[in-house]
Amino acid sequence: MTEKRLYNFSAGPAVLPVSVLETIRDQMLCLPGCGASILEISHRSKQFIAIQEQTKQRLIRLLKVPATHEVLFLQGGARLQFSMVAMNLLRGFNAPAQYVVTGSWGKYAVGEAKKEGAVEVIYDGSSHGYSQLPKPGEVRVRSDAAYLHLTSNETIQGIQFQEDWQVPCPLVVDCSSDFMYRPLDISKYGIVYACAQKNAGPAGVTVVIIRKDLLDRSSDSLPGYLNYRNHAQEDSMWNTPPTFGIYVMGLVAQWLEETIGGLDAMHRINQEKARLVYEAMDRHPRMYQGHARIRDRSLMNATYKLPNDELENAFLAEAKKLGLDSLKGHRSVGGIRASIYNAMPIEGVQLLVQLMDNFATQHA
Ligand SMILES: *Cc1c(COP(=O)(O)O)cnc(C)c1O
Repeated sequence: MTEKRLYNFSAGPAVLPVSVLETIRDQMLCLPGCGASILEISHRSKQFIAIQEQTKQRLIRLLKVPATHEVLFLQGGARLQFSMVAMNLLRGFNAPAQYVVTGSWGKYAVGEAKKEGAVEVIYDGSSHGYSQLPKPGEVRVRSDAAYLHLTSNETIQGIQFQEDWQVPCPLVVDCSSDFMYRPLDISKYGIVYACAQKNAGPAGVTVVIIRKDLLDRSSDSLPGYLNYRNHAQEDSMWNTPPTFGIYVMGLVAQWLEETIGGLDAMHRINQEKARLVYEAMDRHPRMYQGHARIRDRSLMNATYKLPNDELENAFLAEAKKLGLDSLKGHRSVGGIRASIYNAMPIEGVQLLVQLMDNFATQHA
C-alpha cells in the first residue's frame, strides 16, 4: 500500500531529505559497482572504505574541519558519549569537569560524568524550567578544568546557543539536535559529538570530532570500544562501524553540499523557517505561549503551549488532518514541539503557520 508522506515534525529519529530516501531505495538491492546491497558488503571492502572516506571528506569540507581534528563514526548514540567523554577526558584527571546545564540532555550528561570523576555544574537552568541560556561571560570557566561541556541545542525545551563559545579549557559540545544546521568553528572545540538521527541521518551512527592531542588523555585501561584512541588509530574500523548509517549520512552530506549549497545556505534557510514559526506564535500571544526566552529560541525545535489541554488536543487533531505529524511536545514540557530540522521542507513550515493562524482566529 502506498501512503502519502506526512510532514514529519518528529524530534528524532526525524525527517530526511526525500532525494536521499529515493537514492537509498534505488541503490538498496545493488549499490553501483558492487553487485550487492550496502547492507550486505564487508566494511573492509574497497567499496565501503570509499563510502566511509567520502562521508568523512564531505563532513570535513562542510564543517571546514581543521587537520588538528579527527572525525570518528561510532555507535551507542549521544548517551554513550555522555560516558565516553568523561571516561576519556575526566577519569584520572587532576581537576574537575565543568558542565553548563541548559536542559534535560545536559542534566543526563552530568549524571554519567559524575560516575567518572569530579563535576562542577557552573550553570543550571532548572529553576526556570530550562527556558533560558546563560551568556558566555555569565559563567566562570576554570582554565584548568578537564573540559567544559555544553549542549548546543536542548531538543526537549527548545533553547539553542547561536554562537560558538571560546573557553580556556577543552570545550566539549553535544550537537546532537543541531549538527550541521550552520557552520561551526571546529577549531574552538575539543570534542563535537552528535547522534545522527536528529539532523544528519538515521539512528545508529554517532559522529565524534575530536582534537587529536586530546587522544593522549585516554587511559589504556579503558574497555577497547570506549577508548577514542582505538577508533582514531583504526580510522573508525576498530570494530565493524555502523555501515548503513555512514552511507546515509554521506548522502545527507552530499545533499547539503550539492542541493543546499553548504552550511551558510542551510543556516539562512533554517533562520527563515524558524522566523515563520516564531512570528506566527507572536502574532497570537494569547493562543501560543513560547517556552523559551525569546533571544534563546531554538531554530530546530520550537516549543509552545496553548491555554489548555482541550485546545491543544484540538490543535493536534487539526494538524493531523492537514498531514502535519508528531507535533506533540515532550511529556516533561507539554504543549507543542515543532522540530524543523534541516530536512523539513519550507512547505511543511508554511502549512503549520497557516494552521496556527487559522486556529488562533477560530478560537479567539
Ligand atoms: C537525542 C539527544 C540525545 C540522546 O541521543 P541518543 O542517540 O538517543 O543517545 C542526546 N543529546 C541531545 C541534545 C539529543 O537531542
